[in-house]
Amino acid sequence: MKLDFELVPDSCWYSNLRSILSRAQWDFIRKDAYARAEGKCMICGRKVARLEAHERWTYNMETETQILTDVIAVCHLCHSVIHIGRTQLVGDEDRAIKHFCFVNKCTYADYIKALARANELHRKRNEVSEWKLDLTYLKRYIEE
Ligand SMILES: [Zn+2]
Repeated sequence: MKLDFELVPDSCWYSNLRSILSRAQWDFIRKDAYARAEGKCMICGRKVARLEAHERWTYNMETETQILTDVIAVCHLCHSVIHIGRTQLVGDEDRAIKHFCFVNKCTYADYIKALARANELHRKRNEVSEWKLDLTYLKRYIEE
C-alpha cells in the first residue's frame, strides 16, 4: 500500500519528536523534509499549500526497539489516514477513507481489511511494555 496506517504503540512516550527535541532542532528537521518534498506530498504526490511533517518508525519486536527511519512531508489528508485512530476520534474518517481508496486505487473492503491488519499489529506491539528508542537517524543532522 502506497498510503498505509502507522499506528504508534500506546507505550511509546517518545513517539513525537517535537517533545524530545528543542524547537530549533525540530524546525530544522521539519524544514529539511519540506525542502525535499518541493511542495508536493511525499506519499500521494499532490501539490498542496501546506505540508505537515510526519515521523516514520519501524518496530523491532525482538529487541523491543522503536527506530526512527525518516521524517517526511505529507498533506493533511495522508496524515489523517496515517493516524486513523485520532481521525476517527474527531469524526473525520469519511474523508480519510476516500483518500485512502483514491491513493491506493482500492475499494472500501480493502480499507477495512487494511485497518484490521493495522489494528492487529497495534495490539501485538502494545504487548511490549516499554519500547527502547533508536534515534540514529538524527545523526545525519548533527554530523553535517
Ligand atoms: Zn498526500
